[in-house]
Amino acid sequence: MKTDVLIVGAGFSGSVVARQLAERGYEVLVIDKREHIGGNAYDRKDQHGILIHPYGPHIFHTNADRIAEYLTQFTAWRPYEHRVLAKVEEKFVPIPINIDTVNALYGMDLDETTIQGFYDSVREPREKIRTSEDVVINAVGQDLYEKFFRGYTQKQWGLDPSELNAAVAARVPTRTDRDDRYFTDKFQKMPAQGYTKMFESMLDHPSIKVELGVDYFEFRERVEATHTVYTGPLDAFYAYCYGKLPYRSLRFEHEHLADTEWYQSVGTVNFPNDYEYTRTTEFKHLTGQQHSGTSLVREFPTAEGDPYYPVPRPENELLFKRYEALAEQEQDVTFVGRLAQYRYYNMDQCVGAALKSVDYILEKMGETSMP
Ligand code: FAD
Ligand code: UDP
Repeated sequence: MKTDVLIVGAGFSGSVVARQLAERGYEVLVIDKREHIGGNAYDRKDQHGILIHPYGPHIFHTNADRIAEYLTQFTAWRPYEHRVLAKVEEKFVPIPINIDTVNALYGMDLDETTIQGFYDSVREPREKIRTSEDVVINAVGQDLYEKFFRGYTQKQWGLDPSELNAAVAARVPTRTDRDDRYFTDKFQKMPAQGYTKMFESMLDHPSIKVELGVDYFEFRERVEATHTVYTGPLDAFYAYCYGKLPYRSLRFEHEHLADTEWYQSVGTVNFPNDYEYTRTTEFKHLTGQQHSGTSLVREFPTAEGDPYYPVPRPENELLFKRYEALAEQEQDVTFVGRLAQYRYYNMDQCVGAALKSVDYILEKMGETSMP
């Protein structure tokens, strides 16, 4: 089989690159070892007719106009602002921590003028912010750290926050107002017909062929491609020659409640200190679907299983760099995406990285960059 470009992985990264190269006039073959497109952002109706995200809740948000505009070619949108409560000592309180979180937990009556004074009275300033522990202790001190971050992080990563880069906990800010949205990005919308429909539209191009249920490592001898774009785990590409690059996995437990219209008041409830799972998400909040029943997912973090998260810590970064040095030698292969670049990318960042990679791919193929 012959193609100009072989793309391994039909998630955000692979699909964006595929579309861009197809528009540039290349014949593109996209393969995925799964039986569906969309990667981890894939969604589908469950047997009860509720649109679910089989690989965990995916909420789209971005500050980049260019990325929102890019995707708007392939989908209409439905406004949705995600809200999360955390269960702490039998109370359900907003996370990120805001004025109402502090007031509810400590029986106080703080407002915009007094909240920073409270944080200043409990925070333990750290000179160097290296780890996730430093981030939280520096912002809100030991008690709020224990209540919201330590247990959750240990469950999620199998590591103490002191063993993870600062950027992990820094994803969740501390608020000095009453904003209870999980994200503050200016564009917060969900694809109106779901992610899979958006991917179908992105991949619907006469120069794109998609083959599903195909593993690259079994298939690669059978295809002749001028260039390969690989979006799977980087260590697997090199047969784990330097050892396994750690990726954190999850087990998802889905549940449908036929006689319950709404299970929880917000999209996601976090459980920092109870249960083996980290959070429960009720999909109808995210999708706006109406149904007399409801469908939920609970996330159980695991060390083994499909790779979902790179694990941001210095020793893993070093191992990644060794693999990256091999990757940089490849003239005919480009590595793109959350797994291949070993970056804790959100969906919009994957789109951004994929768009950026196209110029680089064209250059490697001896072409000029896209207009
Ligand atoms: P993936 O989606 O992982 O796609 C890679 C594809 O490559 C996969 O489909 C895989 O099957 C395929 N592949 C791998 N190896 C091979 C092989 N050997 N042969 C063939 N195919 C192969 N981001 C947000 O912005 N908002 C959120 O709310 C959000 N929530 C998330 C929740 C969870 C639980 C997780 C895990 C991630 C979440 N993300 C979220 C991040 C988001 O999923 C990623 O940024 C994005 O989907 C990554 O896209 P990708 O194409 O790089 O990788
Ligand atoms: N986190 C936490 N408690 C929370 C929410 C987040 O300790 O209630 C920490 C945890 O380490 C988590 C990280 O912050 O992995 C990033 O959270 P986010 O919700 O962005 O994770 P994701 O949605 O990517 O799984």
